[in-house]
Amino acid sequence: MNSLDLSPVAQLAALAAKKPCVLVVDDQPVNIQALHAVFVGDYRVLMATSGEQALKLAHERQPDLILLDVAMPGMDGHTVCQQLKIDAATAAIPIIFVTAQTGAEEEEEGLSLGAVDFITKPFNPTVVRARVRTHITLKHQSDLLRQMAFVDGLTGLANRRAFDERLTMETARARRSGEALAVAMIDVDHFKLYNDHYGHQQGDGCLVSVARAVRHALLRPADLAARWGGEEFACILPGTDEAGAQLMGERLRDAVQRLAIAHETSPVASSVTVSIGIAVIPPRRPNATFSGAPPVVEPSRLIAQADRLLYHAKQEGRNRVSVGPL
Ligand code: GH3
Ligand code: MG
Ligand code: MG
Repeated sequence: MNSLDLSPVAQLAALAAKKPCVLVVDDQPVNIQALHAVFVGDYRVLMATSGEQALKLAHERQPDLILLDVAMPGMDGHTVCQQLKIDAATAAIPIIFVTAQTGAEEEEEGLSLGAVDFITKPFNPTVVRARVRTHITLKHQSDLLRQMAFVDGLTGLANRRAFDERLTMETARARRSGEALAVAMIDVDHFKLYNDHYGHQQGDGCLVSVARAVRHALLRPADLAARWGGEEFACILPGTDEAGAQLMGERLRDAVQRLAIAHETSPVASSVTVSIGIAVIPPRRPNATFSGAPPVVEPSRLIAQADRLLYHAKQEGRNRVSVGPL
């Protein structure tokens, strides 16, 4: 299931229910064994005996927390920490240094490198367990907050910020690959009349249903459905040409109509409908030549064109799809 299908509370519960994964890094097998004994049972424990191995495992397995020995031959703990922090893929993993030294200077250096905490050897198992649990809870909460910053609160769809980021990425990708790219703008017809007649609260419920229909109408994993704002939704459809956009537009329009949400005051139909404008960057012809690189398409141009086509669909009578090239 897509994690966006869960409410934030359900997501936090799902994270809490999963056994967290801890990576223990130490060049001395005896130390690894001691820490392994502390965590086994409550955690999945990964082990590394060198800095290089730790970096590899952190990347591949994305542990929830890393216990990192400072003094190791070859790549030491501080270097490993630095490497993990400059890499976006591992930067959010909390690191706790495990060290025999207890000097304030040492601690200060570790913390300045981005570690969240320090544990000194020999360690007390109960204290280690408690600290690790605290940092893993904090990590889960910050993961969730980061994710929520990209989710629309009412519908659970991607929000405008997530949409903008993805569209920037997909226009750049389409430019490189030469594949088509379609952007759909979807607007609920006569929604003001719906609110006036049924009340704002039921209006919200209607938007939630429309959002679900839009999300489920999308077929490919790379497709994205977002709430653009108000009663407007937007979809990014990579690899979709004009013919595909026509099909997808009809599929989306039909999905909303089939919800059969009564809209007594709509001049268009007896139930809630949407109008859709879809702008398409056509695929590059195989023999296309450019004096330099292929032309850049500004995401804002694609959105403006989808908006124009949406306006056209509204003018033509609503509850319809209007598709056109950029
Ligand atoms: P058209 O067919 O031309 O799109 O008509 P419309 O009434 O849908 O368009 P208009 O832009 O005039 O009105 C949009 C309405 O959507 C007005 C606003 O109150 C309502 N709306 C926007 N956001 C929300 C929301 O989050 N919840 C609810 N219930 N209503 C909303
Ligand atoms: Mg509107
Ligand atoms: Mg509308």
